[in-house]
Amino acid sequence: MPDVAEPLVRPSWQEAVRTAVRDPAELLQLLDLPAAALGAAGSTPFTLLVPRSFVARMRKGDANDPLLRQVWPFASELDAVPGFSSDPVREQGLAAHGLLQKYAGRALLIASGACPIHCRYCFRREFPYGAQLAARADWSGAIAELAKAPDVREVILSGGDPLSLSNRRLGDLLARLADTAVTTVRIHTRFPVVVPERIDDGLVRLLGGRRFRTVVVVHTNHANELDLAVEQALAALRPPLGALLNQAVLLKGVNDDADSLASLSERLFDCGVLPYYLHLLDRVAGAAHYEVDEATGKKLIAELRARLPGYLVPRLVRETAGQLSKTPIA
Ligand code: SF4
Repeated sequence: MPDVAEPLVRPSWQEAVRTAVRDPAELLQLLDLPAAALGAAGSTPFTLLVPRSFVARMRKGDANDPLLRQVWPFASELDAVPGFSSDPVREQGLAAHGLLQKYAGRALLIASGACPIHCRYCFRREFPYGAQLAARADWSGAIAELAKAPDVREVILSGGDPLSLSNRRLGDLLARLADTAVTTVRIHTRFPVVVPERIDDGLVRLLGGRRFRTVVVVHTNHANELDLAVEQALAALRPPLGALLNQAVLLKGVNDDADSLASLSERLFDCGVLPYYLHLLDRVAGAAHYEVDEATGKKLIAELRARLPGYLVPRLVRETAGQLSKTPIA
């Protein structure tokens, strides 16, 4: 009998999320780390959640791995730190039917409260999604709000992660948006990087051939997140889009050095993605240990400018509550 190679069977994206690691002890075990490697895990309602393919990109035996540090619930999250709050950009309670108008000409649509991973620095880690989701009554409330704001030209699908929606639900939403005056739909998502299986044929078909342009902003903080499966997913995602961009957060112990940031930009470019924003941390309670000061951020951007072509240098920005756009820092 000829030796026939088994086809590579990947789990569906729903299965990848369902089987994600949720137990800190199991995560340490998978990484060959001793139980005390990162201290006792903090217990908060924003629990550990990390898909197994993301764990597989972490270095075994390395408690300082930059991917591990993005998801580990350090006990220090429970410390109250002055200046850090549950709603650092003051947006809770502002969404009407899931539509939040905080930027001129643009509106955020809170499409889903679910995420494929729990990023410990997330500024919406305590967002009350139940009360502020757009995904009710076939999106009618959000679409009605949009009709009252004819100056809105761009709708930004946010969350949670909007690609947590099934293709059918997302397709319904895009069809409703096609009947409005918007000219661009921007999707902010961590899915292509965290669970690349999410970029299936159905999704790619959904994003193409629309009356509006579709832009996807992925969220990657370190080059080690971008393995071959992610590169292939991003290559499949790119053709129907107007642009494929990345935003990162500047995080202590993850990417706060010029080598890491330069590698990230170069690896993104390999994958057909342009670095767009590098955010200073939003001062959300539980994330103080990630903060990098503004002066260090500026210095790092200056180093990147000296090393990279301009199109690979992200814009350093901060989100300031009440401002009509991000505030550029450097
Ligand atoms: S996937 Fe996005 S919304 Fe969800 S925890 Fe991570 S940064 Fe926050």
